[in-house]
Amino acid sequence: MIVMKFGGTSVESQEAITRITEIVRRYESQHPIVVVSAMGKTTNKLLEIGREAAAGRREQALGLVDELRAHHLTHGLAVAGAAAAELDRYIRAHFDWLDELVKGLSVVGELSPRSTDAIASVGERLSSLIVSFAIRAAGVPSQHVDSRRVILTDDRFTQAQPLLEETFALLRENVRPIANGAVVVMGGFIGSTADGHTTTLGRGGSDYSASIVGAGVDADEIQIWTDVDGMLTADPRILPGGHRIKSISFAEAAELAYFGAKVLHPATVLPAIDKNIPVVILNSRRPEVQGTRITSEAVPCRNAVKSISCKPSITILNIRSTRMLMAHGFLQRIFEIFDRYRTSVDMVSTSEVSVSLTVDNVENLESICSELRQFSEVSIENGQAIVCLVGENIRHTPGIAGRAFQVLHDRNIRMISQGASLLNLGFVVADADLKQAVTALHHEFFSELDPVVFD
Ligand code: ASP
Ligand code: MG
Repeated sequence: MIVMKFGGTSVESQEAITRITEIVRRYESQHPIVVVSAMGKTTNKLLEIGREAAAGRREQALGLVDELRAHHLTHGLAVAGAAAAELDRYIRAHFDWLDELVKGLSVVGELSPRSTDAIASVGERLSSLIVSFAIRAAGVPSQHVDSRRVILTDDRFTQAQPLLEETFALLRENVRPIANGAVVVMGGFIGSTADGHTTTLGRGGSDYSASIVGAGVDADEIQIWTDVDGMLTADPRILPGGHRIKSISFAEAAELAYFGAKVLHPATVLPAIDKNIPVVILNSRRPEVQGTRITSEAVPCRNAVKSISCKPSITILNIRSTRMLMAHGFLQRIFEIFDRYRTSVDMVSTSEVSVSLTVDNVENLESICSELRQFSEVSIENGQAIVCLVGENIRHTPGIAGRAFQVLHDRNIRMISQGASLLNLGFVVADADLKQAVTALHHEFFSELDPVVFD
């Protein structure tokens, strides 16, 4: 049994749905459970509908509902074959319900997190229904399962946490047996509380759903189908032409995700990794490419570095204690301020009297700096970039830092950090030097490739 998750762009239109239906068919013998996102940008539009309605702009909200209804009908009915009339009734029933909700909200004039989730859930409820019809129309037995029956969560609406024990039991008892005889299709992102109120797992939550479903049914593999070939040895926005990484450990993948290679958020695959179920990133536009396999254990690799990730346009803050010596509590005071302004810090280096750190969100930087200046001197450097070498072997291979800095000998390196995990070596260079730095490092560490790990 496998889980196949398809994101919004993979189900955005009739063409996209036809493409993934073909992909699902190829895996039929492995008993797929398909988890889908809402079609295209549907979730954004649904949330906008909720806001418009609550702001009393009833006609605008109803107009947006009409647009969504038309899109779902056009593309949905086109893939449903002989069952189009039946699907038509389902789709219209959902939108009639949404019309009523919009009217109610525009009278009440407020939008609770609970009604937000009720509205947002429509996207996945419909996309999963449509995909199930499409698979059946293609001649493959398929059964739709309403995720709200099997994904139980707490009641933190819009950010609900799954109750894993209960959910796993429900998935084992209700979904596994069906999947043995038909392709199960479920909506990602949505769940419900024990007393039956619809919840969502937070934006982008479908990857998390796929991982929970996979862990619950004890899948052999979880496939995350996206629109990229997988993880690469270099960020394609900075250096095109990197090599595909065939397999990567969860810890390595997590480091890449934190520094910008946003293929998927590492926390979302934890339920799968905890159960030792591999997660594979695949491209629905090029299904013949093997993708990237994320496993809980490290894969032996002859290259020391697995990938070079980067994060451009970051800002360095240099904070110097105005006391003679660094008083205890200095770091705590600094981080307490960042915490209060919900600004996350990516990289930190400290010396006796100063701390340098990087942030990418500068929204509250002025307020943060004025608070910091009450007990320190602060200078700011904009236009910087983090470059990070990632690989489990960095910890076992002597001389990596030497090689990296040799390659960058004529560049000004503003900060250096070797993570405690020892699987990354990060530094900061000027944005203007980024492309050259990554190119030179890529040449140094990827001129020879372990063919087992790289394509
Ligand atoms: N449809 C939801 C969102 O746009 C969940 C997802 O796509 O993963 O956030
Ligand atoms: Mg996504």
